Order: sequence, then structure tokens, then C-alpha cells
Amino acid sequence: MAKVLPITAKTTLGTQLASVVSPATGKALRERLDLVTVGDLLRHYPRRYVQRGELTDLNALQAGEDATVMAEIASVQSRPMRNRKGTLVQVVVTDGKGKLSLTFFNQKWRGTQLQVGMRGLFAGKVDSYRGTRQLTHPDFVLLSDEESDDDTLVEAFAGRLMPIYPATSQLATWGIARCVRRVLDALDTPPDPIPPDVRERHGLPGLRDAFYGLHRPDTWDDVQAARARFRFEEAFVLQTELARRRSAARELAAKPREAVADGVLAAFDARLPFELTAGQREVGAAISADLARDHPMQRLLQGEVGSGKTVCALRAMLTVVDDGGQAALLAPTEVLAQQHYRSITQLLGPLAERGFIGGADNGTRVALLTGGQSTAVRRKALLEAASGEAGLVVGTHALLEDKVQFADLGLVVIDEQHRFGVEQRAALTGKAGGAPPHVLVMTATPIPRTVAMTVFGDLEVSTLTELPSGRAPIQTNVVPLAEKPTWLDHVWRRIRQEVETGRQVYVVCPRIGDDEPEEASLVEPDGTRPPVLKLIQGGQGKPDRAPSSRPDAIALVDLAAELADGPLAGLRVDVLHGRLPSDAKDAVMRRFAAGEIDVLVATTVIEVGVDVPNASTMVVMDADWFGVSQLHQLRGRVGRGGYPGLCLLVTGAAEGTPARTRLDAVASTTDGFELSRLDLEQRREGDVLGADQSGRRSSLRMLAVIRDEKVIADARADATAVVTADPGLARLPALREAVAALYDDDRADYLEKT
Ligand code: ADP
Ligand code: MG
Repeated sequence: MAKVLPITAKTTLGTQLASVVSPATGKALRERLDLVTVGDLLRHYPRRYVQRGELTDLNALQAGEDATVMAEIASVQSRPMRNRKGTLVQVVVTDGKGKLSLTFFNQKWRGTQLQVGMRGLFAGKVDSYRGTRQLTHPDFVLLSDEESDDDTLVEAFAGRLMPIYPATSQLATWGIARCVRRVLDALDTPPDPIPPDVRERHGLPGLRDAFYGLHRPDTWDDVQAARARFRFEEAFVLQTELARRRSAARELAAKPREAVADGVLAAFDARLPFELTAGQREVGAAISADLARDHPMQRLLQGEVGSGKTVCALRAMLTVVDDGGQAALLAPTEVLAQQHYRSITQLLGPLAERGFIGGADNGTRVALLTGGQSTAVRRKALLEAASGEAGLVVGTHALLEDKVQFADLGLVVIDEQHRFGVEQRAALTGKAGGAPPHVLVMTATPIPRTVAMTVFGDLEVSTLTELPSGRAPIQTNVVPLAEKPTWLDHVWRRIRQEVETGRQVYVVCPRIGDDEPEEASLVEPDGTRPPVLKLIQGGQGKPDRAPSSRPDAIALVDLAAELADGPLAGLRVDVLHGRLPSDAKDAVMRRFAAGEIDVLVATTVIEVGVDVPNASTMVVMDADWFGVSQLHQLRGRVGRGGYPGLCLLVTGAAEGTPARTRLDAVASTTDGFELSRLDLEQRREGDVLGADQSGRRSSLRMLAVIRDEKVIADARADATAVVTADPGLARLPALREAVAALYDDDRADYLEKT
């Protein structure tokens, strides 16, 4: 057993592990598991528990996995190695059904140390040798060894449940267990971030008891109670921070903005070619009430693609213009910014042309600011924004640059929030000078309530539930090439039919493909590339993802060229993707909108917000390369003009594969909320929160945002009450510290990168 230093000073959660365990163990904990303090170690939660007498199911082991198994020794064999000097000891362990080999080279003494009938824990990487699963030189401890001087394990074995920790090859689970035991024994009662009354109300154990419940449980109930407590704690700490943000926003002063009776908003409403839906009117009322207050609006507007969010946002922007201020609309892509600019100027008509012949006196101007503009165009837009001449400024990330100034920025509208972080929001709101602007965030990705409460917990939420009338339903079909390779011809025929009746079509591809290196398997033996159409058709689905004959998804540039020369010859086919220069993108979108292009072969640049009512059909190639929400967003581009929309999801994924199941789900419903739930359930929690948490400790480890709706709702209510009573958390230092720790070592990244 490793030598450890005597513990002298009081041990707290903040104590460095290096001062409590041996230097080598401390180093392994730090370097391999990223555990630095006592608190880190105690929050290195056991992955599972083994019960006394219960053996691990050996048949479930997978080659390549790092496994810790409890098993009984069934046979031990020692023999000289065939081709080398030395001894080979081969041990077979069993769980009563399955078997696993343990192999030791040149460790002759293992042959006598390990004896038939002994039980132990064996840890190592599972590999496969001639069809037999084995561990080579496993780490192990023998549990039936009465002579063992390892008191940790004697004690662990005496207890009914033994924790198995996420371990590494440098540090087995029992090594971690030893450190935990040492630390738990020495630990002073730690301050609890959950206030006692909150804890009692939910019947949760205190922090110290919960640590014991996880690391040294007597019963499953101990484990369950401890887990419930940590789940609640995670939700509660996060909700406290969000409540604090809401309360801080309420403290901020903002300039109230109100429309005037004969102003630009009234004129706009009068020239609107349609009636607002009841939902749009309701949202409009909520927004104008927010804008009229003297603290900044923080509102999330969610609604299906095409539910009319943009109109709501434009009306909010015009309210601010009426009040003499400016509004900025921030879009995630250049194509979308250009599209917003076009549709806004079109909806406003003469109201967007103040100062020009034919422009309305009560109107305003709209400026467009994107990264790809020429210097002259950009300079003009910058001037219009800075002088206040442009009441509305539409743009991409370029709006966030230092050079961009506003005369009086009163409202920031952010389209498709999930691509902008809170920090970027802050950069833009900083441009308002003294008082912070009102903020409206729009998203077409429906967000389940719990995720909204977690990720957007600092925002009020409005939802547009109905689609404007006249919207035709979208029919979605899967085109399963694995089973029906000839259906691809029907797809091209269908496109021709749509174009013949005057409609337009999108063909969406997962990748662009012109500068990527050629994949070896895509090249024929004579060095030529087979036509991609042949590849698509021949592609048999792998269990998941890409058809096996193609390591990559279909490339847009290849497909577009072949379609134009082949199945779609004679139609006006053009391409749109992110690598085109911005004026080219703009030109293509304009021509498509004007009906001068029949078939637009595009990447997901058309995913958000693009609005061409005459487009009736969308074909998604290699649809299994896209996520559920993404497909739902994509198909929202068609069926916007009163013509029935059709979306064809072309895939090589075979029936019954997860990829195919996903596509079938998208085809079976148009309910965005249901789909987004499905999508989130299939992803890791880290993805839900928008952060790459691989290899990093996440602040949400016990909590599952989708599953733990009630926990989150309870925690939110309690946190709100706590922050209302004590905004600075002055009387709750442990909670204050836990909230502050959210920001340590990027643990709360997802708060910034939603
Ligand atoms: P979203 O931004 O939510 O995707 P948009 O605001 O772009 O939706 O609206 C989609 C289309 O529906 C646009 O062409 C818009 O002009 C039109 N539209 C919006 N509101 C209505 C309404 N109340 N009645 C009819 N059409 C509407
Ligand atoms: Mg929109």
C-alpha cells in the first residue's frame, strides 16, 4: 500500500489532494482524472456499485473497454513460453456462466498467488486473443484473501455495496476508493450549499451524509438518497445563478420605448397584407409592455419555422424607431442576414425609404452590415448606423465589431439564439452606451420547458403555437435506397414535375466537397471517379450513418454538376453554399427568390429563415447525416406559399438502424416540440447544454435536463425565493461559493455558449 503523509491541518473540500495522499497518487489523480482538491475527489462519483457476492456479467464485456470485474478464479495454468524464455501464467475467471482469461508473462509467482476458488476484482483493458476475451497483466485485488493487510478492501468487502469508480490504467478503482476513504475520514463537516430549510422541505440528506451515501453506502437507499441530493444541488446552484441574473437585469435601468399613434408602426400595420394571428397579437402585446418598462426586456420568442416570428420582431423594432431609437437584428449567417434585409425592406416598402423620392416621411431606413461586404458599401452602412439615419440595422457577427456604432440603440433582436452566446449578446448590448438595450431572442428550434428553464433560464419565454393560415402542410417521405435503390429516379422525376407546374425545388447536401481530398474508396481502380449518382444508388446502409461504400456524404459540387447534365438536364440548376463569396450568395438567393432558378442545390446555409414561398419541394440527400432538429428546420423552407410542401429524405441507412429510425420519426410528425425532445434524448447531456464537456468535469453530472423536469422546477422555485430574500447571498456563503465555482475552469461554458 502506498505510503501517505500524516494529516495534520484540518481537511476541507478545498484542501489540495497532493497534501493528503502520496505524491504519486496525487499526481495520477491530477493528471489522469483532473482531480485536484478533496472536493473534486468526493465529486468523482462512483459509476456503479458491486454487491457482495454478485459477480460481473462477463459475457457483456466488449473488447477495447476498460473494465473492472468481480469474478471467481476457475483455473490456473503455468507453462514455459513456446518461443521465448520465461513462464506464461494463464488464469481463467468466471461469473458462473461466462469466462475471461487473465494472462501474465514472466510473472511466475502469479501461479501460486492466484488459486482456484478465490474471488477478486480484476481491472484492465479487454482485448481479444484468438476469439477469447482476456485481460493482459490486469490489476487485481483478491477479496477472499484473509491475510490481506489492505484494510480499505476488507472494509469495502464487509460493506454490502462497493463503489466502482471511473478509473484509468494508472489508478484502479480500489486505489481511488482508498483515497476517498482517507479523505472522508479526515473531512470536517463541509458547508452545505443547500440551505437547511430547502433541504428539509425536499427530504434531502446533508452534504456530508450524501458523500457517505455515495462513497460508503450500506444500502441502495443510501445511494438513491445521495444521488437525489446531488441532482437537486446541481439544479439548485444553476437556478440560483439564473435567478441572480434575472434579478440583476431587473435592477438595470433601460430607456422605456413606446410607439406613437401616427408613427411608423401604425403605418406598417396598416400596410400589412395579412391579419396578424391571435398568437402574434398576444406576443406583440407582451413585447410592447416589456419595451415600455424602465428595465431591459429579456425575452425569448420561440415558434415553429414560418410561425411569423420575424413579423413580431419587426413590429418590436418599429416601436423603438417610433420612440426615436434604433434596433439591430443579428442573424447567424450571411445568407440569413441578407434574407432578413430583403424581406424587411419589402414588408416596409416606402416606409424603408425615408429621405428618398417616394419614401414616407414617417418611415425609416434599413442598413445591412455583413463581413463579406465591399469597403464602400460597408462604410455607408456604418455611417447610417452611427448617425441614426438607419432606424433598423440588420447584420451578422460583423455587427459585434468595435467599429460599429449606433446613435441610440434601443433594441437588439437575435435570430436563432443557439448560434450566439451570452457573451456576444453582451458585446452588442454594450453598444447602447449608457442604458442597456432591450433584448429579444428568437428561435425556431422548439425548446422543451426544462431546457428553456436551464439554458435560457434568464429569459422570459413567449411561444407562437399556430401557423398563419394559408400555410399548407408539409408531407415528408423517406426514400430508402438500401431497400429501394430505383426510387432515386422517381425523386428526379418528381422534381421535374414540380418545376413543370411552376414550382421550385431545393436539393440539400451534407457537404460541399470541392477542396476536400479525394477519398481513396471513391476512386475507381483506373483512377477515375465514379459518378456520384451511381454511388448514391448503390450505397447500402451501414448499421448507422454513412452507406458503407461511401465514407463521406455526397458532395454538393459533384451532385449539382451531374444533375444538370443528367436527370435534371434542361432545368435551371444552381448552387448555394457557404464558400461562395457573399455577393454571389446574395445574387443566387435573389435569383432563386425571383424564380430564375428552378432547382437550388444547397448546403444547410438555407437551414434558417430562408423564405421563398414558391419553393414547394425539398430533397435532402444523405438525410441520415443530419440531426432531427436540423431536418425539421430544413423542411420548414417549403410549403410556405400555399402550395403543399413535400420533403423527401434520401438515405442509404437500412431499415431498423438508429439513423433510419430517426428519419422515420421526422417523417411521422411535424410537431417540432416532440421532435426536439426526441433529438435531445438521443444526445449527450453536454450537447443539450451546448458545451463540449468531453474530458471536462461538468457542473451537471447527476442531473439530466430532459428527465429531471420536476427537480429543475422545484429547484427553480426555491432558488428564486432564496435570491429574492437575499440577492447577494450574503447569508449563504456556501451557496455563493458554489455559484462562483460555476465559472471556475470553464465549467459553466454552456452558460456562455448556448
Ligand atoms: P418565422 O420567422 O417564424 O419563420 P416569418 O415571420 O418569416 O416566420 O413568416 C413566414 C411567412 O409567413 C412570411 O412570408 C410572412 O410574411 C408570413 N406571415 C407572417 N405572419 C403572417 C400572418 N399572420 N398571416 C399570413 N402570413 C403571415
Ligand atoms: Mg424567420
